[in-house]
Amino acid sequence: MKINGVTLLSSALCDLRCKYCYISQDPKMKDTQKELLDKIRNKPFLEPILKRADDPKEIEAMGLWGLEPSKTLDVIAERFDYIFESLPALKSISFSSNFQNNSEKIIDFINKIPKGKNIGIGVQFSLDGMPKVNDINRGRGSGEKIVKNVKSLVEELNKILPSVPNVRVSLHDKATLTASVLELLDKDRKLLHENYLFLENFYRDLRSSKSPNANINMNFGGSNQEQPFPYSKEHGIAFSNVIRAIGEIIDKEKMREVSLPLIGKFNRIFKFGNEFNNKHFMFTCNANRGNMAIGVDSDVLPFCHRDFFPNNDEHTQKFIQDRYLTSDSQDIAKREYVNSCYTNFPKLKLSYIIMMCKELAYCGLIDKKYDNHKNAYAMAMYLVSDLCPSSSLGNYASPYVNELGNIKFLGNGAFDYLLERVAKKL
Ligand code: SF4
Repeated sequence: MKINGVTLLSSALCDLRCKYCYISQDPKMKDTQKELLDKIRNKPFLEPILKRADDPKEIEAMGLWGLEPSKTLDVIAERFDYIFESLPALKSISFSSNFQNNSEKIIDFINKIPKGKNIGIGVQFSLDGMPKVNDINRGRGSGEKIVKNVKSLVEELNKILPSVPNVRVSLHDKATLTASVLELLDKDRKLLHENYLFLENFYRDLRSSKSPNANINMNFGGSNQEQPFPYSKEHGIAFSNVIRAIGEIIDKEKMREVSLPLIGKFNRIFKFGNEFNNKHFMFTCNANRGNMAIGVDSDVLPFCHRDFFPNNDEHTQKFIQDRYLTSDSQDIAKREYVNSCYTNFPKLKLSYIIMMCKELAYCGLIDKKYDNHKNAYAMAMYLVSDLCPSSSLGNYASPYVNELGNIKFLGNGAFDYLLERVAKKL
């Protein structure tokens, strides 16, 4: 099997309890963490991938995933010799952090990268808005800590990176816009303005604090909606109002860092949309093709990070465990075959969304214009990249079924506005 990347479950604990987190944190996770640490410290934990990869030299990327990956960076660093020996072509290691702690662990991790290895370190920080907004879903005080600790990371990187030229760091944010925050921002325009002004200034400060001698690439300012979530027509109308208001703020304040939620996804469609039929992997999740995941139990290969904890959800457990989370090589072939119904028929994915757009338009749940094929097709091209076969299988027992809420979220004015903004820039 051709494998280019590996996603490693590296932590089963987190110090936050975000309301939208899809991983439940029951007390058993402490035992899982012990098992995980023992495996990473003492065992050949890359074996499940190495024995299936056609050529381990093709594996160039490693993602550390879990609840809070920074909790175990020190343990991963202890195994750098094993990791780089097993994956000699590894070029990047990436992880996301909630930044509830100072940057010491990340800095130590970077300092321990062997000097002969040219590596890109991708660090994502999750910040959902100014602290007052962020804390609505992530717990009081969490936002202030993120802001302080991300700033301190850049300061520390400025000090160490000039002397470790083999490492470059890419820092980017991830914001989740939930239905509750959307409703609040729709009602309170003063807060909305304050929120985006705060983010613009925070990102500008970070960029300007970067030393020219430190190899740091920064990319900020977008956000995604919480999903899967059963958005209603009313949520869609609120989203349409909110992004228009954000657009006005961006123009009025001449913002350079903040961008409209969900707008970034258009880039790929505009640049490569003509290639959809022959290079559809560029547009949708690869469904475990090319990138393999390693969870707690080395005998079971998760589909992707969404299946690291299948016991968290009864439906996922039964369906995914029975049919997809497989162990021996024969089962891998079977999974590839079953998987091919998702990976080999891109037009089926589009067709489902097009059909649903027409149905929803007919029912009056989205704008009437989406009963027109061209409009529905444009929406489908955009939404197809949200399709996660793993969560679709878990929630609907079919890899094609896209959450209808996403269509209602965009189909009530927001998609038109996003398209209009993108078109103005062309
Ligand atoms: S920080 Fe991430 S892993 Fe931790 S609770 Fe929040 S969403 Fe879940």
